[in-house]
Amino acid sequence: QIGALPLPDMPGGGEPNIVLFLRDLTEARRLEAMRVDFVANASHELRTPLAALLGFIETLQGPARDDPRAREQFLGIMRTQAQRMTGLIDDLLSLSRIELHEHVVPTRIVDLGRIARQMVDMQAPLAGERGVALSVERPEGPLPVLGDRDELLRVVENLVENAVKYGGSGGVVVVSLHRVEDPNGRGARIELRVRDEGPGIPAEHIPRLTERFYRVDTASSRQQGGTGLGLAIVKHTLNRHRGKLVIESEPGQGTTVRVSLPEHRPDAEEAALPEPPA
Ligand code: ADP
Repeated sequence: QIGALPLPDMPGGGEPNIVLFLRDLTEARRLEAMRVDFVANASHELRTPLAALLGFIETLQGPARDDPRAREQFLGIMRTQAQRMTGLIDDLLSLSRIELHEHVVPTRIVDLGRIARQMVDMQAPLAGERGVALSVERPEGPLPVLGDRDELLRVVENLVENAVKYGGSGGVVVVSLHRVEDPNGRGARIELRVRDEGPGIPAEHIPRLTERFYRVDTASSRQQGGTGLGLAIVKHTLNRHRGKLVIESEPGQGTTVRVSLPEHRPDAEEAALPEPPA
């Protein structure tokens, strides 16, 4: 956008004063298109379970009114659909909360090894139900990073949940932690890897996985209770934590997701606060 604004003439005459302005609207248009897309996708995702709920309500009020078996079955499905809507709304709220303070770097010291251990323990029942062997490998000693404990728990939760959900039953999921020296000499990073032996992800999908609502197979994601927002939440959380995300996948062999955060060195950030007791 190009424009010109005349300014009042300066006293004493001379050339008229004009301010020229140049504004690049490409970025503004892109953001606006993303916002419109997001609202359309979110509405569509909410409409799908809502339409199913309305359909079952009508059936229960009409043809299935006096059929106790159908009633029981339909109520079960309605409950699943309502839970899906709740999950979606929770994820939408998390995403907007994270985006609100995405530019604020956390100041608390947390142990990424402990967070991973805690989340693996919490996910053990889900893995057990699906016949997946879930384990964690970590080096001795703490792995300190500056972070928000709840947000990092959520990151590990999303990655482990994906590995368990998409890794296939009877598979193995390993969460491992590593201290990796930065090759550019900018201190070490703490890396968390989540590896599964599932069907993997075709290469063309990988760059788009962190987009909101992007799924390789929408039907299978929905069936597994997915919202398509998990990796978007992971990406935005990592932005705040100066973290990096790398997804590597070999179709037929499995997927490894790597998340790394700068290691916290005690002399680096005097303002850092110790982690409160768990
Ligand atoms: P969802 O709620 O659908 O799981 P995510 O944002 O967490 O959403 O993941 C996006 C998509 O990436 C998933 O729908 C799935 O198609 C694919 N995906 C994520 N993790 C894996 C994995 N470990 N193996 C295979 N596909 C995966």
